[in-house]
Amino acid sequence: MNPTATHPAAQFDIQRVRADFPILNELVHGKPLIYLDNAATSQKPNPVIKALDEYYRRYNSNIHRGVHALAERATEAYESSRRKIARYLNAPNQHEIIFTRGTTESINLVASSYATSVLKPGDEVLITWLEHHSNIVPWQIACEKTGAVLKVVPINERGEVEPDQFEAMLSERTKIVAFAHISNALGTINPVREFTEMAHRAGAVVIIDGAQAAPHMRVDVQAIGCDFYALSGHKMFGPTGIGVLWGRTSLLDKMPPYQGGGDMIQSVTFEKTVYNDLPYKFEAGTPHIAGGIGLGAAVDYLDALDAEGIMAHEHDLTRYATEQLSQIEGLRLIGTAANKVSVLSFTLEGIHPYDMAPVLDHEGVAVRTGHHCAQPVMDRYQIPATVRASIAFYNTRQDIDALVAALAKVQRMFSGL
Ligand code: PLP
Repeated sequence: MNPTATHPAAQFDIQRVRADFPILNELVHGKPLIYLDNAATSQKPNPVIKALDEYYRRYNSNIHRGVHALAERATEAYESSRRKIARYLNAPNQHEIIFTRGTTESINLVASSYATSVLKPGDEVLITWLEHHSNIVPWQIACEKTGAVLKVVPINERGEVEPDQFEAMLSERTKIVAFAHISNALGTINPVREFTEMAHRAGAVVIIDGAQAAPHMRVDVQAIGCDFYALSGHKMFGPTGIGVLWGRTSLLDKMPPYQGGGDMIQSVTFEKTVYNDLPYKFEAGTPHIAGGIGLGAAVDYLDALDAEGIMAHEHDLTRYATEQLSQIEGLRLIGTAANKVSVLSFTLEGIHPYDMAPVLDHEGVAVRTGHHCAQPVMDRYQIPATVRASIAFYNTRQDIDALVAALAKVQRMFSGL
C-alpha cells in the first residue's frame, strides 16, 4: 500500500481490484460468493497465486544449501521476499525478519525463547482482555515455567483498553507486555505507540500481535517503537503457513534458539554446536519456501495499491454496515470502539449464532460464527459466541446488502413467518 498516494476514493478502483481475486467469481450453493470472513483468512490475488504456481512449476528446490541453478533461484526469490517484507515494515535490518508459520508461531517463539530465559518468579507479563488465544496461552505457559505472573488489562463496554488502566497495571515487575494491534473479535484498534511508550517507561519489552493490522494498514515497526511484531501471511492476502516475527537485533542476538535442526547452525559436533547468524538461528529445517515467495508477492501487490484509498473505502463500508445492521431489530453489535476497523461482531435476539450460520451460508454469505479464539472477550460480554462479518478492501456495499438480506431471512425463518 503506497502511503503517499493522494485522492483516496478517486484512485481506488474497486472493480479493477476485485478482478485480481478470481475466487470472488465463485458461486456457493448456486449464489454469488459474498466473502465476509476476512479476519479468519483473506483471499489471494492473481500475482500471489501465480508466484506459488511458478515456484512449483519452474524452480522448486530447497534453499540455502544447493549450488545448482534451481536452488540459487529459489534462494534468491525467498531472500528477496525477506528484503521486501523488511522494507514494507520499515524494519532497520532484513536479518530481523524471521519467517515463521504465522502469528501463533511468532508469539510462541518469543514466549518460549525470550520469555523463559528472562522471566523470574514474581515478574509480571501484561496482556489485555482483547487478546486472541494465541496471545494468551503462550504467556500462560511461559509463566507456568518461570513462576512469573500473568496480568490482564480489562476492556470497557465498547471493547476498548483504556490507556490509564493500561498504565496503572505497569510496574517495575512488568517484564513483558503483549497486546494486539487490532482485536480480531471486535475490531478495536489499540493505540500501539502510546502503549509501547508506557511499557518502555516501565522497563518492559513489548510484543505486538499484528495479525489483524497488516491487512488493513501500513505497519511501521520503527514508528511504533515496539520490540517484536508478529504477523500472518494468510491474513494479508498471502499464503497460509507463512508468517513473520520482526524483532530488534539486540534482543534476537541474545535469545537462545527456538528449535534445533538444519540451517540454524554454523557447525555441529557431538561436543558443541555453533548457532547460525540471524535470521537463520531461528529458522530450523526446510521452511515454507513457496509461502515465503508468495508472501513477497502479496507485499508487492499491497505496495502497489493506494493505502489511503483502501482505508477510505473500508471506513465507508464499516460505517455503512454499522448503520444497516443497527436497523435490524434485536441485533446487538459487540465492539463499538471509537477507533476500529471493519470487523462487525453481533448477536441476534433469540437466535443462537450457530443456528444463523447455515442459513447465511445457504445464501452464499461466508461469515465466522463462534468465540473467534477469544473466549475471554465473549465472557466479558456474557455471550457464548457472535456472528462476525469482517470486511476487506475488495468488499462492496452490495456485499453488506446481501448480508442484511440474509439476516432478514434468518429472522423470518426463526419467527416462523
Ligand atoms: N492474533 C490475532 C489477533 C488473530 O486474529 C489471529 C488469527 O485469527 C491470530 C493471532 C493467529 O493467527 P494464525 O492462526 O495465523 O497464527
